[in-house]
Amino acid sequence: MSMKAYVLNCPVELINTEEALGRVSNALENKINYQIVTINPEMVMNAQKNEAFFNILNNSDLNIADGVGIKIALKFQKINLNHIRGVDFSRELIKLASKNNLRVAFLGAKEEVINLACENFLKEYPSLNIVYSRNGYFENDDEIIGEIKSANPQILLVGLGSPKQEELILKLKTQLNGCVMIGVGGSFDVFSGLVKESPKIWQKLGLEWLYRTLCQPERFKRIFPVLPIFLIKCIISSVLKKG
Ligand code: UDP
Repeated sequence: MSMKAYVLNCPVELINTEEALGRVSNALENKINYQIVTINPEMVMNAQKNEAFFNILNNSDLNIADGVGIKIALKFQKINLNHIRGVDFSRELIKLASKNNLRVAFLGAKEEVINLACENFLKEYPSLNIVYSRNGYFENDDEIIGEIKSANPQILLVGLGSPKQEELILKLKTQLNGCVMIGVGGSFDVFSGLVKESPKIWQKLGLEWLYRTLCQPERFKRIFPVLPIFLIKCIISSVLKKG
């Protein structure tokens, strides 16, 4: 059964990690090409002005709530949902791949970063079946799509930033042969060990976005004014719905 809420007309599945992994297993069993979006306020705001991206968010197979902003937006609608951090969900997918000997592929981040991330994955899961990995700096989508198609992965993590990663996954959806694909943003930077993950206490307090902004001040202009405008729009939208 599907339980969705809408944040500024973008769907968010009301689901926990276990249920999301259940959907993944189901897609794998049925050899379905399956697009997962880790949806956050920046994406929702982008969708308000980019129709093609709005359509991607509305036609993807599973949008999981990443980021505390979505959690707060749902609270305005009296919905309590624990957000699923994209980086944690990616770890779960890798664990699943290792346990079931699934073919896994990684695309994104700088060369050094993706290589270190793969090394770390293999340290933790020596039998992980990595059939493809490539940095995320390329000119020709079709070439990359061809390479991934030949590698025939069952799980693909794409970390190119949004909306690039979601657009590429959409293209791949008609090309692959039963693959679960997820946009993972900057997760490879974390997996490489080069970018420090926010301490658990910051995560618990819902302040991971602040920690990341303090560590990478260039993120500031990405968050402001997008985040406050997002929250104001969500408040207005929930008040109008009540009225
Ligand atoms: N990136 C990439 N190719 C590009 C642009 C960006 O592989 O053409 C990578 C970049 O190296 C970083 C990730 O995409 O690893 C974007 O991370 P960001 O922090 O923007 O994503 P977020 O986690 O905020 O969604």
